[in-house]
Amino acid sequence: MRAVVVGAGGNVGSHLIPHLARMGRFETVALIDPDRYEEKNLRSQEIVPDEIGRPKVLVQAGRLRRIAPDLRVEAHQTFVERVAPGALLADVILSCPDSRAARQHVNEWARRLGVPWIDAGIEADRLLVRVDAYGTGPDDPCLECGWDERHYASLEQRYACDPDDPRAPATNAPSGLGALAAALMAVECEKLIEGRNEEVLFGRELLLDLLHHRQYVTATRRNPDCRLMDHAAWPLTLLDGSSRRRTLRDLLAGGPPERRVSIPGRDFARLLRCGGCGHEEHGLFLTLPGRESVRDCPRCAGSLVAAGFDRTPEIAASAIPREWAETPLDRLGVRPGDLIRLTGETEKPTTWVVGELR
Ligand SMILES: [Zn+2]
Ligand SMILES: [Zn+2]
Repeated sequence: MRAVVVGAGGNVGSHLIPHLARMGRFETVALIDPDRYEEKNLRSQEIVPDEIGRPKVLVQAGRLRRIAPDLRVEAHQTFVERVAPGALLADVILSCPDSRAARQHVNEWARRLGVPWIDAGIEADRLLVRVDAYGTGPDDPCLECGWDERHYASLEQRYACDPDDPRAPATNAPSGLGALAAALMAVECEKLIEGRNEEVLFGRELLLDLLHHRQYVTATRRNPDCRLMDHAAWPLTLLDGSSRRRTLRDLLAGGPPERRVSIPGRDFARLLRCGGCGHEEHGLFLTLPGRESVRDCPRCAGSLVAAGFDRTPEIAASAIPREWAETPLDRLGVRPGDLIRLTGETEKPTTWVVGELR
């Protein structure tokens, strides 16, 4: 079994790691977290002074391996929005990041990939601990089913990371609060991987108010007006290990000519421009998710970016230049874990996952 932990080194995630190692059910655990440990983290997170300055995913990968030496650990030191979507394919995603945008990203991909996920958070001032679980059925509610304008308005907010950033509310959470959230997550996770689905918190939220010693369980409904109109997972086909030699021409062979190609999360661009020196490159390029820069400028120290007018999330198969269609996928910038999706009017969409999944 495979688990993915988003926000693997933080207030909740760092306390969750030892539980995952001890479950003995996972062959692979993938850790995602962009940050490094800072001195202030000693108060709230599961670390020792020697680990200050080190990437959180590497510290926690080491902790996983010490407890469970046979475990395969993947460490992604980056934002979840920048990870190839296929890396989130798992039996369960455990989500405890410090931003709403990261949760929205997990929610969308968990649905597309058909992966159940468990999310937890804490609020230090009011001593609140929250756990939610999301199933994978088309009628199961998702995170955004319960969102209104306020949630969308605060998508940019990040928590507890930069004390100098006035926008970021400091959580300064007591260690016990994160540890409790992690323990609740671990219990739900064990039920889920044991297949006790009736007992999992799917579609509900458990909230502990430790200031007043109260417990609340609330249910979310599937919202027909949810931003993710279609809650059904995409059927996926694995492009096996030879994908470095695969080309778009192979994938498009024999299909109707009006099909459109997309690499979800990434855009196609026809023009790259350097903000520093004005250098331009024409052709067909793939943008990187969560980043402006597509590549370094060959003329100056700047970087080449695709402007909004020059980028599009999908392209007609007939508009792909022949040279591009015949270039191996990895040389086009397609990464292991990227999805390639073909949609047409006369057929069901086809979605490939590039590279090895597990
Ligand atoms: Zn929804
Ligand atoms: Zn330049």
